[in-house]
Amino acid sequence: MSGSIALVGIGPGSHDHMTHRARAVIAEADVVVGYVTYIKLVADLLEGKEVIRKGMTEELDRAVHALERAREGKKVALISSGDAGVYGMAGPTYEVLFQAGWTPESDVSVEVVPGASAINACAALVGAPLTHDFCSISLSDLLTPWPVIARRLDAVAASDFVVALYNPKSGRRTQQIVQAQALFLRHRRPDTPVAVVKSAYRKRERVEFTTLAHMSECEIGMLTTVLIGNSHTFVRHGLMVTPRGYANKYDLDEGGSTREGEKAGRSLSSGLLGWMAQLRADHAEGIGVATLAQQHGLPPDYIEAVLSAAVDEPETTTPTEETEG
Ligand code: SAH
Repeated sequence: MSGSIALVGIGPGSHDHMTHRARAVIAEADVVVGYVTYIKLVADLLEGKEVIRKGMTEELDRAVHALERAREGKKVALISSGDAGVYGMAGPTYEVLFQAGWTPESDVSVEVVPGASAINACAALVGAPLTHDFCSISLSDLLTPWPVIARRLDAVAASDFVVALYNPKSGRRTQQIVQAQALFLRHRRPDTPVAVVKSAYRKRERVEFTTLAHMSECEIGMLTTVLIGNSHTFVRHGLMVTPRGYANKYDLDEGGSTREGEKAGRSLSSGLLGWMAQLRADHAEGIGVATLAQQHGLPPDYIEAVLSAAVDEPETTTPTEETEG
């Protein structure tokens, strides 16, 4: 008889936002391991099971324990909040498994059951802030050196991502959020919209809208995720929205007609091919590589490479329309 380990993300913390698969895997398990708060959420599924309640900092212990039980032929469910692979148990568990000589072919099977992560849950509560490129950064320096975190904050602030800050603050870690704010203010406007979401889909749920200039003054704790908008994000009627980019292609004030030079279902005139053609034209007119690099905020050697690349044939096939939804 072979055992199994399931790394189950149970979503933000309400039954309604747990997946069908997550419930099924927990229901089938012989052993359920997890942090007390999350165990409580699935209390109705636990009858007759061995339940191992662990504290916060015992992640590696939990993984070792899971492997031991699975090798005895048990079905083990390791539960994480949100998604088990997002700052959760999935990584440490695979590391422990590999260390113990486990391979995917061995007699213990492993499944990661995806769940809605805090970024998804918090975004849904505040509107539609993630409609354009986004990333997440954890401010926890328990396992990551601060310069690594600060470099990432600086890079994403400069490149205008919408950002979710996980683990923004705790009783002992109070200055990380202040430092993050300072790094962001070097690149973004002080009135950039920020949403501070606490305990999404849990009892003490709270949403607060603020701005980059004021975000560190908000009540922020261990169960808070901070969402920072990009330079186009706005708040209207209590909803934080990041535009998808339709205004680049359609004249939204003019009944949605396509802007001159743009075509529905095709790349923008400033998309890759259009941009390359324009770059070559500008260069041919005598604008130097250094100036072009500065204009576009791109490295000179990349501009150089684009200018010297062979020119692509224009599209001759009839491509199916791409949807933008
Ligand atoms: N695996 C989890 C993240 C664990 S890290 C996930 O995918 O969501 C813990 C951090 O997640 C917290 O400090 C907080 O920033 C965020 N978080 C988790 N649950 C949350 C919730 N219900 N509301 C707001 N933030 C939450």
